[in-house]
Amino acid sequence: MDLYEYQGKQLFARFGIPVSEGKLASTPEEARAAAQELGGQVVVKAQVLTGGRGKAGGIKLANSPEEAAQRAEEILGLDIRGHVVAKVWVEQASDIAKEYYLSVTFDRGEKKPLLMLTTEGGVDIEEVAERSPDALARLHVDPLVGFQPFQARWLCFTGGVGDPDEQKQVIGLVGRLYDAFVGADAMLCEINPLIVTPEGEVKALDSKFTVDDNALFRHPDIAEMRDLDAGDPQERLAREKGVTYVKLDGEIGILGDALEVITSDPQVKGILFNIFGGITRCDEVARGILEALERMTIELPIVVRLDGTNAEEGRAMLIEAAPPNLYVEETMLSAAERVVELAGAR
Ligand code: GDP
Ligand code: MN
Repeated sequence: MDLYEYQGKQLFARFGIPVSEGKLASTPEEARAAAQELGGQVVVKAQVLTGGRGKAGGIKLANSPEEAAQRAEEILGLDIRGHVVAKVWVEQASDIAKEYYLSVTFDRGEKKPLLMLTTEGGVDIEEVAERSPDALARLHVDPLVGFQPFQARWLCFTGGVGDPDEQKQVIGLVGRLYDAFVGADAMLCEINPLIVTPEGEVKALDSKFTVDDNALFRHPDIAEMRDLDAGDPQERLAREKGVTYVKLDGEIGILGDALEVITSDPQVKGILFNIFGGITRCDEVARGILEALERMTIELPIVVRLDGTNAEEGRAMLIEAAPPNLYVEETMLSAAERVVELAGAR
């Protein structure tokens, strides 16, 4: 489950990570009141579950409550990569001398948490990793040993944090971010940018916080943060990727939409389902395919490669119940050859 910036910052604060004071607003009027209470310059920030808000015009400074209301008016309702802004976070504005990057994520390949720190923050971290990989300090934490303070010192040294006073703050912050990561059963805790103010104070200006769904039962307070208005997470993910996903009841996923699109293309003469079932069971996939074919008639040859968990069961189901234009194969290569052959014959 992804948290909004303000929710991530609430958790940061709980673990002793410095953040700015702020208030949530869902109308320009509320934004005005929030700015009034906070006093001084504020920053009005779109609360959406996607990054790159700054570039999309979702983050604006305001020098007065009046201006905060105007900025909120501009930002509320904005569509940021498929996410419509329903709330803004009004925060005391910070002066920025430097922008760093700090994160803890779960490295599935290594089966260990991975700490990353660079002084080239504020931009996309993928960009830094590509452009200047040496500037990005990366360090795995052995989950059985736990985080060690020397690891934070190594990160500072390798990542390029030179100032001793900054080092002291960042070292403390790395430990607290790791505590937040473990304490909240997170998959990702990212601060980009982690800023240094002109006065030398280090704090989190942004937060990206993802909690493991399977651990939410241990964190009812975090589970409660889920925004039901933001809609179904799969539907949202699909929207971001430019396809439609319709959430249905039951346990079978149907590629119905996709089939409709594929068959409407006159150039297509054959359809290949290439499925390797890992966690997904092939018998469930077979049931899904059969159900989809019941709803729509497809004249084209369909080749299904089914391999993995319960593959034999799945293949048997298809062979027994499928229409005559459906062919079942065990390997990707044989399936590819088959579909090319069938398409060529048409
Ligand atoms: P993102 O674009 O979704 O990652 O949103 P961020 O919260 O990281 O903000 C984007 C950028 O806006 C930051 O990198 C800053 O340059 C700028 N910004 C955000 N908050 C403040 C602030 O309090 N003061 C100033 N001067 N700039 C800010
Ligand atoms: Mn950011």
